[in-house]
Amino acid sequence: MVQYAVLGTGSNGNSYVFSDGTTSILVDQGYSVVELGRRLSSFGIEFSSIAGVCVTHLHPDHAKGLGTIARKFGIPIYIHEVAQEKEAEALSRLSIPQHCLRSVKADVPFTIGPFTLGCFLTSHDSGGSVGWNIGLDNKKMMILTDTGCFSSQQCAFATEADVLFLEANYDEKMLNSGPYPFFLKKRVSGEFGHLSNNQAIEFLGSSRFHGQHVYFIHLSDINNNPSLLEDFAGQNLSVPFTVCEKGKCYGGNVEQL
Ligand SMILES: [Zn+2]
Ligand SMILES: [Zn+2]
Repeated sequence: MVQYAVLGTGSNGNSYVFSDGTTSILVDQGYSVVELGRRLSSFGIEFSSIAGVCVTHLHPDHAKGLGTIARKFGIPIYIHEVAQEKEAEALSRLSIPQHCLRSVKADVPFTIGPFTLGCFLTSHDSGGSVGWNIGLDNKKMMILTDTGCFSSQQCAFATEADVLFLEANYDEKMLNSGPYPFFLKKRVSGEFGHLSNNQAIEFLGSSRFHGQHVYFIHLSDINNNPSLLEDFAGQNLSVPFTVCEKGKCYGGNVEQL
């Protein structure tokens, strides 16, 4: 059985867990050790089962807890090789011990215990940003977050995915009429920013996603509104979905159909 959970998503912290009951993998770690442990235990997942953390990019909301879990528990941290080079300063601030750092290449899958993992390039203003495919027991899960646009390669991955965690960061109208200064509006909606609600729905259409569940993640508290996205997705989707509110946890199992 594949168990998964959104341990939290949004500007304060992002982390996802995937577990077969014995071995668990995190994607991103934006929490303190205590908070992460609390969130894991609410799903009955032992801290000691974590065999690695796969990192999307080095912005603090995704990366600020990496150093402590690496130093305290010796957990390996998998970071795209380009991020290690281009974001060397952000990386060094995290103080991840060298022996815990693993360098990964896009489109070159590797395994951690029973998991097959692979990262693919995204388009974001942090060097070497990636999304992740997580495979276990012939089930595929995909995380696509913090990207200003999507690619045909990502659509092809989503077509195959059973569970998809997809960024829906902002509503275009709310962003345009909202309080952000012009340069920030440009950044968020630009090629190296974030996916809008419209882009997320467009992505699901282009990929003909027909998996078990979509989780909309990384919603902006200022430029999005969960109930607005809920309505919008409800009008446009025939697959089950969940709009993840900031800071809350959501869990599930991939069903063996
Ligand atoms: Zn980011
Ligand atoms: Zn982010």
